[in-house]
Amino acid sequence: MKLVSFRQDGRQQVGALVEQGIVALQAAYAAVLGGSDGAYRKAEALIPNDMVLFLQGGGDALQAAKEAVAYAGGKVGPRGERLLWQQEDVELLAPVPRPTKVICIGLNYKDHAKESGAELPVEPVLFSKYATAVIGPGQAIRLPEMSKEVDYEAELAFVIGTGGKDIPVEKALDHVVGYTCLNDVSARDLQFRDGQWMKGKTPDTFAPMGPALVTADEVGDPGKLAIKLELNGKVMQSSSTDQLIFPVPELVAFLSRLITLEPGDVVATGTPSGVGFARKPPVFLKEGDTVTVEIEKLGRLTNPVVAD
Ligand code: MN
Repeated sequence: MKLVSFRQDGRQQVGALVEQGIVALQAAYAAVLGGSDGAYRKAEALIPNDMVLFLQGGGDALQAAKEAVAYAGGKVGPRGERLLWQQEDVELLAPVPRPTKVICIGLNYKDHAKESGAELPVEPVLFSKYATAVIGPGQAIRLPEMSKEVDYEAELAFVIGTGGKDIPVEKALDHVVGYTCLNDVSARDLQFRDGQWMKGKTPDTFAPMGPALVTADEVGDPGKLAIKLELNGKVMQSSSTDQLIFPVPELVAFLSRLITLEPGDVVATGTPSGVGFARKPPVFLKEGDTVTVEIEKLGRLTNPVVAD
């Protein structure tokens, strides 16, 4: 399934991207259950309108969502509501609009560590972004007036479905509900001027994510996905997740030794080479640019750039 969060008429919902549009999962599941008041109450409990609450429902919630997708094609809900929306009729949000955590891994591709002039890490380099940095597909990356050097980074992100602590590496993928594209937007002047990466990493709009949370069963091995970034249509980064120094299972195991992982946590796994600041001459984002992260099986995440 390709899970999405969307807003329609001011109401946020959890949906699934299908060929014909976006299935409104809660309403479709109420229809599956027969459309009584009790059916609506059960659908609200199993498929809440918030992605983090939905993921807390675990396998039962995912199963309900699958049944809702299978039912929804071309039908109207028991209360006359639409079960299927067209993308242009709704506002697509980040699949997890308010993640419980956004954990980022730095320098996780050898060629990017080299272009950054950094030593290869002996264990994962960690930093984080706040939920206020998250934006969805099509929403604008805003260049803050404090920075003159805002850069892009294409990244595979994974989302935790089942939480845990001290997760063994061989069980790690059982805790990952799915994957999405993330752009680790980075203000290099703020990131490097005093060694405090977070200043440069978590300004508002600096974590574009989406378009969908593609469930793990559709993705298979997260360690062999083509990943690229286009700036105004020109390919700037092109690699594969088989180049990750610390692959997804190792990251889950390592992180969970330090931090309790919870449903709705998002982990960005690092970027390959080709970032703007390492180019000669350097390339930074400017007003009017369009940035697209594309990952095999996960789709394309496109965001315009505007000056603040
Ligand atoms: Mn990064």
